[in-house]
Amino acid sequence: MISDAGRRTKNERTKSGRTTLNFKQSKSILTPASGFISGFDFTLNPYSGCAFGCTYCYAAFFATTQRQQDDWGKWIDVKENALDLLKSLRRKPLTDKTIYMSSVTDPYQPIERELGLTRALLEELAAHHRVHLVVQTRGTLVTRDADLFPKFLSARVNLSITTDDETVRKVFEPACASIPQRLKAARDLRAAGVPVCITMTPLLPVRDADTFAEQLLATGADRFVVQPFHAGKARFAAGTGLAARQFAESFGWDDARYEQVAATLRARLPNLKEGKAGFLPRM
Ligand code: SF4
Repeated sequence: MISDAGRRTKNERTKSGRTTLNFKQSKSILTPASGFISGFDFTLNPYSGCAFGCTYCYAAFFATTQRQQDDWGKWIDVKENALDLLKSLRRKPLTDKTIYMSSVTDPYQPIERELGLTRALLEELAAHHRVHLVVQTRGTLVTRDADLFPKFLSARVNLSITTDDETVRKVFEPACASIPQRLKAARDLRAAGVPVCITMTPLLPVRDADTFAEQLLATGADRFVVQPFHAGKARFAAGTGLAARQFAESFGWDDARYEQVAATLRARLPNLKEGKAGFLPRM
């Protein structure tokens, strides 16, 4: 039983790599969706915090305390009662609802390999509810659950592949899988019949837009989303956001360069959405 694995880990582990693990009781597991993903009914976050620690992470700004924002990437709260909370909904199964997993964490960050919490929640949803699911991740571990996605009313994996340049990737997403690994994960999901949307959100500095577009097309993904790297907004002018903005400048990545690359992507990629329009449940 996957949740038992989680309990065993709670007794034995307080760290995952450089990341501190906290096992916490949560009040709820499904949250009414709002803001950028308001097209969905609910968000589902098995964890808070994220060991991937991307320098530009917007989710960091939803952390409860300034300390958590400043330490983004160094802590994970595991919702240890998440499965029990979901099981409590069996009395009134969800029908034709849309769920976005996840909005403030990555459901396939490294600790998931050990805990299997995301998988346990997906198994529960697939077995007892009829919902449309969109999974948002940078984690190649998502391929592990390819067998579960066909059990949903509909399911799509939004896999973030944000640049073609490993030097750039290592600066902005140092703890994430490499770009070749993510391209392979997209191919593997498609080979397993899972719908895949590649999200370039935000689009990071790109070395060769034409070759990048070819690599993305070769995965078999049939949907794409691109949006610019937001910098300079009031909320973004602190902590990790400032670091990301400085990194972007160091790569010569500005509005003009973004537009150049985006124009190539628009010309080469079918079914390319931009910004919020790319985050509708059934685009
Ligand atoms: S993987 Fe997503 S949630 Fe995690 S740090 Fe990166 S952008 Fe934030």
